[in-house]
Amino acid sequence: MSRNGISEAMFKAAAEVMPGGVSSPVRAFRSVGGTPIFFKSASGAEVEDVDGNRYIDFVGSWGPMLLGHAHPEVVEAVREVASRGLSFGAPTPLETEFCELIIELVPSVEMVRLVNSGTEATMSAIRLARGYTGRPKIVKFSGCYHGHEDSLLVQAGSGVATLGIPGTPGVLPALAAETLTAPYNDLASLEAIFDRFGEEIACCIVEPVAGNMGCILPQPGFLERLRSLCTGSGAVLIFDEVMTGFRVAAGGAQARYGITPDLTTLGKVIGGGLPVGAYGGRREIMERVAPVGPVYQAGTLSGNPLSVTAGMTMLKLIRGIPDLYTRLDDLSRQVSEGMRDVLRGAGVAASSAHVGGMFGVSFREEAPRSYEEAKEADVARFNRFFHAMLRQGVYLAPSAFEAGFVSYAHTDAQVARVLEASEAAIREVLASGG
Ligand SMILES: *Cc1c(COP(=O)(O)O)cnc(C)c1O
Repeated sequence: MSRNGISEAMFKAAAEVMPGGVSSPVRAFRSVGGTPIFFKSASGAEVEDVDGNRYIDFVGSWGPMLLGHAHPEVVEAVREVASRGLSFGAPTPLETEFCELIIELVPSVEMVRLVNSGTEATMSAIRLARGYTGRPKIVKFSGCYHGHEDSLLVQAGSGVATLGIPGTPGVLPALAAETLTAPYNDLASLEAIFDRFGEEIACCIVEPVAGNMGCILPQPGFLERLRSLCTGSGAVLIFDEVMTGFRVAAGGAQARYGITPDLTTLGKVIGGGLPVGAYGGRREIMERVAPVGPVYQAGTLSGNPLSVTAGMTMLKLIRGIPDLYTRLDDLSRQVSEGMRDVLRGAGVAASSAHVGGMFGVSFREEAPRSYEEAKEADVARFNRFFHAMLRQGVYLAPSAFEAGFVSYAHTDAQVARVLEASEAAIREVLASGG
């Protein structure tokens, strides 16, 4: 049997009952080819699959596992709360404490509404911005992914990019028409959009560091100009920090780059591995949300005690580790620059980017600044490299258009092993003709 025989059999069974055999598209390995690996367990920086293979993990459940898998304090806190009831559909003091902590850490946030996923957070924030301004249009950047809400699936990165789906059937053209897109980091396009549509723009939503088309940093001045254009036209500036929140700094990208958005969306890390999302921001805007204001948004399981406990335990741990972000910066630099140098050393065009606990390695000479540039990477070669890395015991995101994530649990010894693995992997790829 192959080293993934059990995963392959499990995938066959899954594909009979779930579209593509998965609960979320990118997991299906469509873009890299082959069949997905089924996981059995994880701890720290390592995951184990159902065939008993172990991997050093750079996916971290797509972001939440900032402190590594199965952190004992998070697991214990959830276990303890679970024994007192899984859900009440009524207020608990946990939610207040959790929101106080978010407000303490994220500079622009004065009030918070808890939801169950990043998608829910962004779609609710967009509705709120439209309700608050009374305007229809939204501005987003090509290659930025903000969840699968209808208005936001236009030119979305991530799974949509991976699968090559242009927009997506099921989104009404009339709704898509209200979504204006500009290339990331392109101020001239952005200014043209604001010149022409300024009065109609409800909000501009942006990943302050783009992590769904690889890892693309904001160029100096980009976020600043975005802020001033929104202020000038009366549009709401939404930082989608579902990925960057607590990952590039405790206060997110807004703290790192010193820009104050009007609304912020959060997810991933704030759930500690359980389903949570949140949106928050200026009190004046948040007070337009029901039941104080007229913009309706609700959730049966929102503020769920298990999710809130996992998230709160994470945030308290984060607050208590003084060297967390310097360590994450150092790890993501070592991994991304190390892999880039290994690839270049083998004669392969490669570039890298990193900030806090996220990084990207692109099979393109220069680090891309936009989705348009990211797409120029040698995706076919990345795909072969991805599989060669799996055989070496390293689990990268199964797509050339995803960021990598390090955790505080990754060790220097693991980084050294990953760089050795990269050398062996690229040698194998080049030896087999690619
Ligand atoms: C993951 C992600 C989302 C969507 O969050 P889900 O929890 O998957 O719905 C939204 N925005 C950004 C920037 C993300 O990375």
